[in-house]
Amino acid sequence: MSNPSLLILAGDGIGPEVMAEVKKIIAWYGDKRALRFEISDDLVGGCAYDAHGTPLTDETMAKAQAADAVLLGAVGGPKYDNLDFSVKPERGLLRLRKEMDLYANLRPAQCFDALADFSSLKKDVVAGLDIMIVRELTSGVYFGEPRGIFTEGNERVGINTQRYTESEIARVARSAFELARKRGNKVCSMEKANVMESGILWREVVQKVHDEEYHDVQLSHMYADAGAMQLTRWPKQFDVIVTDNLFGDLLSDLAAMLTGSLGMLPSASLGAPMANGRPKALYEPVHGSAPDIAGQGKANPIACILSFAMALRYSFDQGAEADRLEKAVEKVLADGLRTADLMGPEGGSPVSTSAMGDAVIAALDASL
Ligand code: NAD
Repeated sequence: MSNPSLLILAGDGIGPEVMAEVKKIIAWYGDKRALRFEISDDLVGGCAYDAHGTPLTDETMAKAQAADAVLLGAVGGPKYDNLDFSVKPERGLLRLRKEMDLYANLRPAQCFDALADFSSLKKDVVAGLDIMIVRELTSGVYFGEPRGIFTEGNERVGINTQRYTESEIARVARSAFELARKRGNKVCSMEKANVMESGILWREVVQKVHDEEYHDVQLSHMYADAGAMQLTRWPKQFDVIVTDNLFGDLLSDLAAMLTGSLGMLPSASLGAPMANGRPKALYEPVHGSAPDIAGQGKANPIACILSFAMALRYSFDQGAEADRLEKAVEKVLADGLRTADLMGPEGGSPVSTSAMGDAVIAALDASL
């Protein structure tokens, strides 16, 4: 059987720097665990615009559709700020998400003990936190029609439409229940069924999918505003949270910051299963291209490394190897290694991007 294929789109700014560390780790898995991938590299974002006049060529799009998984660094930068909207670097990323129909965005919020002091919340509220937010990514108010700014009488009116079909809700609910079965077996669904019809439908469909297909999983419902409060009051009550595109946008950022730095946060966006049973999948750090530190060896590669760990778990059925990589990251942090973004007010001497990657590899070696 041929090796699974991985398309790497390092992108702009710190993207290539953090991806270089992931590539070292991929090579480690090939050498030490006989876990090999067919790797191909391509361009997305500003670098693709520079080379081809578009942030994502049709050829690269086709490669992404055919790959077993896509791993992306980051896109964007001040050089491209004044480009026309249609060719901005972010359009490349949006096109990937849309054409691959990646409807379930997985954002883990995990607090490594060594970084618990970094949270704006009390240490005992966040230490050991491990929750997963599943955000619907391809529908809802960011896509619904009608939308636009119209004139009504003497003034303008801005309109966006929250719209969800039953099947759109059901498929993302299934993603959440499947994930919960591999974790703490609990799902909390969040909407505003008290004031929105789309919320009423959301709640009904999630409940139906649960009752018919996943009654072994514990399900609760919460209004999204109450959910935001509960996330800051006692986030450890949650395991998997499933919610719509808009609420998920807000709640996943809130949950992420419970855990400290942007440089630590991975994500996965999953779509329908392909013929080989693997979901269409794009893995990427939550952070952007960080132009303020690009090219200086200061970027924290952990978010990108943990994104690869998610790929091992969700695309390649290598849960034990994903655990190994996450534990290696945990060990490096427990040993006190910090990139500049993880330095507290007391200061210290930060390590470089590549030194952090090397330390993770040393911890992987030690795990054998
Ligand atoms: P950003 O995430 O790039 O940076 C925000 C702050 O966090 C910066 O101070 C940066 O130095 C720091 N930071 C981010 N990642 C880090 C890491 N791995 N290690 C250490 N520090 C890190 O967000 P921004 O400054 O708002 O945006 C910069 C560019 O990135 C813009 O062009 C924006 O459109 C783009 N962007 C892209 C994505 C993506 O590719 N998914 C996401 C967000 C922003």
